[in-house]
Amino acid sequence: MANKDYYETLGVNKEASADEIKSAYRRLAKKYHPDLNKTPEAAEKFKEINEAYEVLGDDKKRANYDQYGSADGPQFQGGADGFGDFFGGGQGFGGGFSDIFSDIFSAFGGGSAERGIRRGEDINVAIKLSFEEAVFGTEKILSFNRIESCQKCNGTGAKNGKEYSTCPDCKGAGRVRYQQNTMFGTTIREGLCQRCSGTGKIIKEKCQECNGKGYNKVPAQVKVKVPAGIDDGQTLRMRGEGNSPAGQGENGDLNIKISVAPHKIFKRVGTDLLFDMFVPFTTCLLGGKVEIPLTKGTMSLDIKEGTQSGTVMRLKGKGVKVLNRDSYGDMLVTIKSEPPKNMTKKARDLLKQVGETFTEMDFPKSKEFKNRMKGL
Ligand SMILES: [Zn+2]
Ligand SMILES: [Zn+2]
Repeated sequence: MANKDYYETLGVNKEASADEIKSAYRRLAKKYHPDLNKTPEAAEKFKEINEAYEVLGDDKKRANYDQYGSADGPQFQGGADGFGDFFGGGQGFGGGFSDIFSDIFSAFGGGSAERGIRRGEDINVAIKLSFEEAVFGTEKILSFNRIESCQKCNGTGAKNGKEYSTCPDCKGAGRVRYQQNTMFGTTIREGLCQRCSGTGKIIKEKCQECNGKGYNKVPAQVKVKVPAGIDDGQTLRMRGEGNSPAGQGENGDLNIKISVAPHKIFKRVGTDLLFDMFVPFTTCLLGGKVEIPLTKGTMSLDIKEGTQSGTVMRLKGKGVKVLNRDSYGDMLVTIKSEPPKNMTKKARDLLKQVGETFTEMDFPKSKEFKNRMKGL
């Protein structure tokens, strides 16, 4: 007779929605998963959480459970009516269950959703690039500490990699099936072997190098190719360059968060580069050539006669390389007409004379605006 309150196990109230139950389960399953939590009580707790979720996570099972109570549920005789398919034929970990496991494992970096495959943790590092390094790509050597399988014992944790025997409980598989008696009958479950913590081995004499753990934290150096066009805030992922798991399995990933120093002139928006080009007002009036900066070198830009301040000139393909593609963004140059800071009397007189040569017709936009004002 089970004497458990599944709601209490998951820490939710009886009115909790399916989503609330699911998220409570996920939170607790992450907390107590034996691969992630090495405390002795974790495995038992994990079992309880799974048991509770198997019932509360299923609408039909939950309804039955609610109806017949928890601790003080009715005494079921074998084959009580309506309970024949309560556990769907005692399938244990099945159906939707492996789905939620996939979810949990993918939350830890994805890839190895298969039950039983151990995966090392990801390592997260951050690097700062200069503007040019991001635009043209670069290579960096990253140094960090990483958990790696112990070379001395081949990851077994046993002296010379030999001083161990096969775990008698799981016959080396690392996982065992066990029976569980619940108020609804006997179910067969599969879980991590408690005796060997899933390694499949019983160590007779510990490896000195790793003290029986099978892994060590060692300094690692990884060369990373930063592709041209990477942008601030993006993350590069190097598969398998993260930590090794305890025992056999695949490595986690190395996640490299990129930050890029700002440029003195350019503002980067995606693959486009923007900047304000200040030119003397006479250049805007009379036209002329100006030298503008590019990501590499400079180029000469033609300013047409009568260019307005604020005009944006788009230079196709002069921006930043599109990541992993053979195309480039644009350069957007905003022309800013700069009036003189000081004017000599001579200059003022000459400009006055120039101004008198114009008529209203030479300033169509000013004229149009004046006309619109009249209607107000
Ligand atoms: Zn070792
Ligand atoms: Zn075992």
